[in-house]
Amino acid sequence: MVKVIQDFIPSSNKNRPGNYMKPLYITVHNTANTAKGANAASHASFVKRSFTAVSWHFTVDENCIYQHLPLNENGWHAGDGRGTGNMKSIGIEICENSDGNFEKAVENAQWLIRKLMTEQGISFANVVPHKHWSGKECPRKLLNRWDSFKAGIATAHTGKKASTKPVKSAPAKSTTKPKTTSKKTYNLPSGILKVTKPLTKGAGVKALQEALAALFFYPDKGAKNNGIDGYYGPKTADAVKRFQLMHGLAADGIYGPRTRTVLESLLNQ
Ligand SMILES: [Zn+2]
Repeated sequence: MVKVIQDFIPSSNKNRPGNYMKPLYITVHNTANTAKGANAASHASFVKRSFTAVSWHFTVDENCIYQHLPLNENGWHAGDGRGTGNMKSIGIEICENSDGNFEKAVENAQWLIRKLMTEQGISFANVVPHKHWSGKECPRKLLNRWDSFKAGIATAHTGKKASTKPVKSAPAKSTTKPKTTSKKTYNLPSGILKVTKPLTKGAGVKALQEALAALFFYPDKGAKNNGIDGYYGPKTADAVKRFQLMHGLAADGIYGPRTRTVLESLLNQ
């Protein structure tokens, strides 16, 4: 349990745009500020200044966490303009002040991320480095150990592996055992799938659609069965394209071995 202090940026500030946000991602940063005293409290006063152009949701140091924005408002931290990083992700800065304890700050951030995943229903796959959105080398001290950083989120403070599936509004600290979710297997097809005339259909297409939906890339969100119908139509191609775009693949809407590999690695996390 780490102390979270709410100290919001004044709503009159330019760096508090107040656009409504439903957070789907968590974006991790390092402050890149090694000055003595550049802790969470000091960043809290920095973001509240009227001339500050950037903003994010939380700053974490070895002692505490400051929250600068409500979770249903966007900040300017991801470097992707009005893209998904800024408009749909919770920004977390981890302090690296030379008089602080960086490893303890990292632990506190892992605790916070796990709590936010649980409370906001954000999937493990959607916890991403700043670099994911804009290519910036950030979080600079965690990129070379990103996998172990994420593994630490799953085991944060409880010593038990967190479910990688989103959990809707479960209490942050539960004394009951986490549910052991039996992992569903997806028999993803090994060939190429694209929009053809007539449409390609079958169990392979359906497995692909289910796998995409499990990662929140629905063929047709809100439609019957979220568009999972076993046909590789334009909407399925669009879901593939959105997935590819988000994971650094050639976004052509054509399913092939590379898309399959990335899908499988995410589903197995
Ligand atoms: Zn960053």
